[in-house]
Order: sequence, then structure tokens, then C-alpha cells
Amino acid sequence: MKKKDNVAQKSYRMRTAMVDGNYDSKHWEYDHHLVPPISSSVAYRLSSVHRGEEGFRHFGEAVDLQNEPIFVYDRLDEPLSGMLEEKLAYAESGDMAVTFATGMAAISAALSSLTRQGDEIVAHNTLYGCTYSLLSHWLPKHGIHTKFIDLKSSEKLLSALTSRTRVVYLETPVNPTLDIIDIGAIKDCISKANATKSEEEKIVIVVDNTFATPFCQRPLTLGADIVVHSLTKNIAGFGTDMGGAVIAASKYQRDLLLYRKDFGGILAPRSAWSILVYGLPTLAARMVNQQKSAMHIARFLEKHPLVKRVLYPGLKSFPQKQLAELQMVSYDGRFAPGSLLYFELKACTDSEGEKAAEFFIDDVARSSRCISLAVSLGQVRTLIEAPYSMTHSSLPSELKDSIGISPSGIRLSLGLEDWHDIEADLKSSLDRTETMLKLQSHVTYPSS
Ligand SMILES: *Cc1c(COP(=O)(O)O)cnc(C)c1O
Repeated sequence: MKKKDNVAQKSYRMRTAMVDGNYDSKHWEYDHHLVPPISSSVAYRLSSVHRGEEGFRHFGEAVDLQNEPIFVYDRLDEPLSGMLEEKLAYAESGDMAVTFATGMAAISAALSSLTRQGDEIVAHNTLYGCTYSLLSHWLPKHGIHTKFIDLKSSEKLLSALTSRTRVVYLETPVNPTLDIIDIGAIKDCISKANATKSEEEKIVIVVDNTFATPFCQRPLTLGADIVVHSLTKNIAGFGTDMGGAVIAASKYQRDLLLYRKDFGGILAPRSAWSILVYGLPTLAARMVNQQKSAMHIARFLEKHPLVKRVLYPGLKSFPQKQLAELQMVSYDGRFAPGSLLYFELKACTDSEGEKAAEFFIDDVARSSRCISLAVSLGQVRTLIEAPYSMTHSSLPSELKDSIGISPSGIRLSLGLEDWHDIEADLKSSLDRTETMLKLQSHVTYPSS
């Protein structure tokens, strides 16, 4: 008897399923290989013209777990991304997943396949920079326009909807301030608006779940229609591979596959292999530990005299703690506030704050072994950056002010180092920054 026949019916816990799989994959024969070999075949041997014809004819048809896929050409389908897609769909409680070369390839595929000329998108006013650029620069060239509003307000959402709205788009927690957007509340608004619309006109809720990861939050179970991911971050987890995915009900699969086939942004099989073999199986273990560190570091920062405020959904002081507790829950039902935090330094003026943050981060970059100055997030290494002048520099200053991104703001993505070391390195740099500020105030105000 084949091993997969043995185990197919059992229902394992999510953490186990991410390591071993709890389903019967038609994408690989697991009888011999414990780990699937890296596949690198652009084309596949076909036994007959009839089989080749079937491969093309059935491409893009709904999820079919009964029949083994017919592989023809890598840009259509290949075994490793196929297996990864099965696991991602499972992780996000979706019917299916379609992988892409990067997070941006996944986001642009999801939005472009849902909209046509004249359609409107309503998006939260704070988004990942390239997503903002896609919505504000590229899609308008195709006649698709976006209204950026505060999606924390149901009234603002309702008044932004028109007969042309096709998509509501958001990230939660929001990068970098970690604001939480209530997916259930958005679902309630959109359900009402959709009640009188035909199937093709219905508004679709798309959530970028990169920050939380499916370990901390499953938007499809909270009312979202589609989840998009940058696999590059916590899902790949080691900082070695880029990737993206769209996860949703099976009715979206055909368009996404056809879009990927024609626009060509496929996930490289080598990257699919890394994410499948290293990334997803360790996601839960990494998140549990990164979260633990985030909690310790958030509490430490909150007590430091140079820190003005710390935003971390796990802290008692977090303004949306109740909503976070409802929305961010791990597979085993525990509150899962994630591995990212945002904090601001104390300063009298904005320019002083920006200077203090720059001094502090530069000091960390120079003297800390376990915290690296780098963009990206969700890696085994702890990463620090200044959103105001780095990742979010393209936003107008008035917008940054209104959404709470301060010149003295700092984003920290916790890695897997021992949190005592992270804390010690942060403390050294904070203390040196404090000394610098004191010295400077003497220079500026010699009489005091
Ligand atoms: C990084 C990121 C993206 C883009 O992903 P890439 O893999 O870099 O293309 C999109 N959304 C969020 C929230 C991200 O952090």
C-alpha cells in the first residue's frame, strides 16, 4: 500500500500539516522521496498527442485533486509550485492558491484579473509602497482608479462606494504603524452593498496578509474573499527567496492561472522548493519564537526613558487591543500579535526626532551584531529601519503625519536571536542616543 493512501483521510493539526502535509498530493510521488527533488525541467515528456491536447484543453480548469495534473511547460504548471500551492491554500483555509514570482506579481495579478477599464478600487490610505504605486500610477493608465480612504471607518467606506467599485483592498496590521482594520466590519458593509449586485459586479475584498502570516490571522475565515502574500517575508522566512501567492475560492483560479500564463510572472521552481521544504514547515516554530521576542522587546522599549511610544498588538497599551485579540489568533486558538513592532523616540520637534532616530539606527547598524539595518521583514535575522525616510519616503509628509508615521518612528522585525541579546543591543544604542541628545542640548543651549 502506498503511504499516501494510508494517511490521506487523517486530520492532523495545522502545525503538523505544514511539516508533513495531511492530504494526498497529486503533484508528487512520495513513495521514495521524503523531500521532493528540485525540479528543473522546462518541458515535460508527453506520451501522445492526445495527452498534450488534453494538457492544453484542461489548463486553468477548477482545482482537480482527483486527477494527476498533466505537466506540459513550466509557465503553465509544475510540480513544486503545485505542491506549495496546495499547502498555502490549506494554511489560509482557501480552496486554492496560485503562486507568483514575487508579492508584487501576485498583487498585480489579483487586482488586474478582477478589474477592467472604468472600475474603481477602494483602498486603505496606508499601503506597502509598491502597491500604492501600482494603484496610483500604473492601473490609472488602464482606466482603473483608486480611492484611498481610512478603512477603519465604516462610514467612510460606505460613502466611497459607487456602482463602479469592484475591489476593497487593505493590509492588516498596517505597515508600519500596526493599525488593525476590522475585516468583519468591512465584510458587513460590502455584503449590504453586494446584495443587489449581479455576480460579475460584486465587490471583492482583498487582504494582503503578509504582515500577520497565516499563522497569526486567516482573513478568508474573517470575511475576506481573496488573500495575497509576499512569500518573500515570513513564509519563506530565511531571506533567501522571493515569491508571492493569491489564495481564494476556486472560482478565481481560472483567471489567475490564465493571467499568470500570459503575463509570465511564475514562481521559480527553485524558490518554490525552498519555501516548500524550509519556509512553510518552520513557519509556526519561527512565529512562536519571534512573537515571544517581540513581546519582551516591546515591554522593554515601553519602559525606556527615550522611547515615546511603542505600538505592538500584544501590549496592554495597544489602542486596538480588543480587535487585535479577535482577529489575530493562531491555529491553536491563542492570541498571535505577530513579530513586528513600531516605536518612536522622544523629541521636542520633528527634525530633532528624525535626527535622534537616525543616530540611533546608525548606532545599531554599526555596533549591533544581532540587529541589521535593512528593509524587508520576517526573517531569521532581526531587522531595523526608519519608515519615514526609507520604506515610506514616497508618501507625502502630510499623509505620513495624518496616518501616524513619525520622523522619529522605527520599525523592528524580530528574528530568531536570543531576545536578551536583542534587548542588550537596543539598550546600548538607546543609551548612546540619549547621551548624544543631552550633549547636543548643552551645545545648543549653553546657558541652561
Ligand atoms: C514586501 C511586501 C510586498 C511585496 O512583496 P515582494 O515579494 O517584495 O514583491 C507586498 N506587501 C507587503 C505588506 C510587503 O511587506
